[in-house]
Amino acid sequence: MSDYESVPAEVDRETEIPADHPRYEDLVSRHRIEAGVEQGITHLQGMHAEGRGSAFDYLLGEETIPTADDAERAAAAQLLLADHPVLSVNGNVAALVPGEIVELADATGAKIEVNLFNRTPERMRRIADHLRGHGADEVLGLEADARIPGLDHERRKVDADGIAAADVVLVPLEDGDRAEALAELDKTEIVVDLNPLSRSPQVAAIPIVDNIIRAIPNMTDHARDLGGADRATLREIVDSFDREEALAAAEKRIRSGDLAGE
Ligand code: ATP
Ligand code: MG
Repeated sequence: MSDYESVPAEVDRETEIPADHPRYEDLVSRHRIEAGVEQGITHLQGMHAEGRGSAFDYLLGEETIPTADDAERAAAAQLLLADHPVLSVNGNVAALVPGEIVELADATGAKIEVNLFNRTPERMRRIADHLRGHGADEVLGLEADARIPGLDHERRKVDADGIAAADVVLVPLEDGDRAEALAELDKTEIVVDLNPLSRSPQVAAIPIVDNIIRAIPNMTDHARDLGGADRATLREIVDSFDREEALAAAEKRIRSGDLAGE
């Protein structure tokens, strides 16, 4: 029996989870979503999304596969090339990677916009405060003075100077309807989603099949690395990324069941 059988499903603080636990990242993620629900920034439904993601991550070997790293580099280049890049943040993203999103925004010059499936003024405000607490200067999404066509009610609401005006949008852990609606608006869409068969990565120009916990910091590293590159070099990185190959490689990895990462 492992020494860790005694780690409780619920811990009060993240620091109570032993860093050498074989399921460390997963336990930290679960704890962050739970804390997000308690703080009123994550909807209870977010726990379902987390469970789905965690199953796919387990099958991927809980690591950034080479094609995901390629996608993260292409995404960083695409954000650097953009005139008006926006990072869309929902309740799970805010709970899992608030500081990391702020760093990515700094490294790429992107704006941050809160965009919720289950939108309430209270949750919007709490998420914006949470992001500001992690260093964000400006958080969009509260004005909601524009609409995405083709979506119903609350999900349509965006900011005129944010997602509505964006040429490149990062939409992590997003549902398929919104990803499709944004893609139809001729925006270049970057999606982070552990399920390569989900509609969101299927419609994305750059699908990143990786855990957001690994994907965002890796995109930031790539963006910093590419900071001095000229536009032709950035364009070449974007153009040489093969989305079909990346989706196929992730699906193959998940289906092959090779957990050792060989
Ligand atoms: P649709 O079919 O419309 O895309 P869905 O059932 O996929 O809907 P959700 O469950 O809300 O809708 O989607 C959440 C997605 O986010 C899932 O595909 C899940 O694999 C993914 N996901 C969850 N947690 C993470 C994570 N930490 N990193 C990356 N992806 C994640
Ligand atoms: Mg999905």
